[in-house]
Amino acid sequence: MGKVLVIGRGPAGISASLYIRRGGFEVTVAAKDDGALARAEKVENFYGQAEPVSGSEIIRRGIAGAKRLGVNFREAEVVALTIEEKGFSAKTAAGETLTADAVVLAAGASRSAPPIPGLKDFPGRGVSYCAICDGVFYRGKTVAVLGAGEFAQHEADILSLTAKKVILLTHGQAAPVVDSRYEVHTAPVEAVTGDTRVRGVRLSDGSDVAIDGLFLAWGTAGSTDLARRLGAVVEDTHICVDAHMATNVPGLYAAGDCTGGLLQIVKAAYDGAVAGLSILKYLRSTS
Ligand SMILES: Cc1cc2nc3c(=O)[nH]c(=O)nc-3n(C[C@H](O)[C@H](O)[C@H](O)COP(=O)(O)OP(=O)(O)OC[C@H]3O[C@@H](n4cnc5c(N)ncnc54)[C@H](O)[C@@H]3O)c2cc1C
Repeated sequence: MGKVLVIGRGPAGISASLYIRRGGFEVTVAAKDDGALARAEKVENFYGQAEPVSGSEIIRRGIAGAKRLGVNFREAEVVALTIEEKGFSAKTAAGETLTADAVVLAAGASRSAPPIPGLKDFPGRGVSYCAICDGVFYRGKTVAVLGAGEFAQHEADILSLTAKKVILLTHGQAAPVVDSRYEVHTAPVEAVTGDTRVRGVRLSDGSDVAIDGLFLAWGTAGSTDLARRLGAVVEDTHICVDAHMATNVPGLYAAGDCTGGLLQIVKAAYDGAVAGLSILKYLRSTS
């Protein structure tokens, strides 16, 4: 019997898990926290609420209902997602590996990069969002990773396979314990500099660090980061899906804020339902 991994326990992820579980398949929801809805103090535009209700309460009810149906939950930050000979494999920040025959990416809207002057001036000309996609273009060169968490370390590890030198720019965050091969700068980045392409970064301590490429890995891996690494089409900040919430990668579906459009609970829940039903068809046709 096929098993499904849902990344994210917001309305999109939970909704997808309900349809998948009720269709008879094993489903695990992996999430690092409660997502955007946890920040909503009062919700009064979602069907079925007699009184305004907090986002946290909607999440609590959603998770309780899914557990009742037998959905498995894992408290985990997914840092990498790869395609295997059969299905998918997800690596968590704790070093765990989760495997699945199909995946729903429901990890919410893309995280934002810090507002550093120059950062947005070099798309495709030295600033990249994906080490596994673009790292090979920097073979034998000096690259920097902007970030301080598990995600940044994972990107640095990928880049170290081809780059001459890997620098970690934590932009004022505490330096993580990293491989001693990496040069670490904790001073905030004041500007990304270059001409026709990126040439370096200026730090707040006045120093200039010369680089050939800058890889963004700020915060945790978002839906679009994970999707890009699998070859899924991403446009600006959202993952491209068809009417069945399928990406261009067989077995990979996306739902909720990460697919753009109306950033509301009702749309996330709808997307999740469609993704869940589509996965049932996919698993039945492939198993
Ligand atoms: C302050 C605020 C108020 C809002 N008020 C309303 C409202 O009144 N009405 C309304 O309809 N909508 C409201 N919204 C919008 C609504 O919360 C979102 O549209 C909805 O939560 C999107 O659902 P989602 O499942 O796509 O993503 P989210 O709810 O953001 O869930 C994303 C999930 O992915 C997980 N995740 C992310 N990255 C990883 C990773 N690398 N590994 C593992 N897990 C990961 C997160 O931990 C989380 O569980 C509000 C949003 C905010 C911020």
